[in-house]
Amino acid sequence: MGIVELHNLTKSYKNNRGIVDVSFSIEEGEIFGFIGPNGAGKSTTIRTLLNFIYPTSGHATIFGKDIVKESKEIRRHVGYLPSEVHYYDDMKVIDLLTYSARFHKNFKEKRMKDLATILDLNLNRKIEDLSFGNRKKVGIVQALLHEPQLIILDEPTSGLDPLMQHHFFDLLHQEQKRGATIFFSSHVLSEVQKMCDRVAIIKEGQLVKVETMESLTKNKMKNVTIAMEGADQLSIEFDGVISREVKRNELKLLYNGDIQWLLKQLNSLPLQDVLIEEPSLEEIFMHYYES
Ligand code: ADP
Repeated sequence: MGIVELHNLTKSYKNNRGIVDVSFSIEEGEIFGFIGPNGAGKSTTIRTLLNFIYPTSGHATIFGKDIVKESKEIRRHVGYLPSEVHYYDDMKVIDLLTYSARFHKNFKEKRMKDLATILDLNLNRKIEDLSFGNRKKVGIVQALLHEPQLIILDEPTSGLDPLMQHHFFDLLHQEQKRGATIFFSSHVLSEVQKMCDRVAIIKEGQLVKVETMESLTKNKMKNVTIAMEGADQLSIEFDGVISREVKRNELKLLYNGDIQWLLKQLNSLPLQDVLIEEPSLEEIFMHYYES
């Protein structure tokens, strides 16, 4: 059984769709990405899982426990970073962290200091003096402090500069080694590609696909760029052509069909040049988003 399981989870807001029939499961110990454009339903899913909002229908479990009925028990072992963090400004970082840690039995000062060092966060600053990025770091430390079994991060990297993102990703790998499962949402593909074992793609409130990072990048899709006189006039419709784009003498195809057949077709054309390459994740995702 997965550490997180969603079964047809649906949340409708009064006038908005929210999420519809979302089902997937996250295995223990994996780093699981949740990707989709803004407004796709990532926060809604996460907030429902944490019982901040109630599902309209469907159900879900975390650690085998019901997200609504056993939410209190679940939350003890979950670290959560919301997409936007709000704090009382008139407090020192160290006081805020110690204060919020009182809910957890295993507060260790050393861990707080270690996390702050990794993220280059000054514990003695006042919250009101912190930049957006530094506030985010406070949220990250807060989410990880009690060594949770499951770490849920909603858009964790927004506001972190590239070097800090790097430290943050190292930190998440350390947490994974400790045995934690990590679920994080993002609308930035490259970071999901770097970090995740598997990824769920969400679009307009509905789950499009759950894939391993490996098969997403190593699937059979190919970018085929054909250069020849009159490429823009070429009217051959190949089977398996997902999209086509014409630029003067170049025709660029996203192709997901039989490669032998493609080569035969290409062979019969007066080609000046041909390039067959793996599409970028961006291109693969655009396909999922658009279709
Ligand atoms: P994401 O996190 O992927 O950016 P959200 O979960 O925030 O997406 O939003 C999904 C959909 O639900 C959007 O259409 C959004 O407008 C709607 N929505 C989110 N929160 C609320 C709310 N509190 N009230 C009404 N509609 C909401």
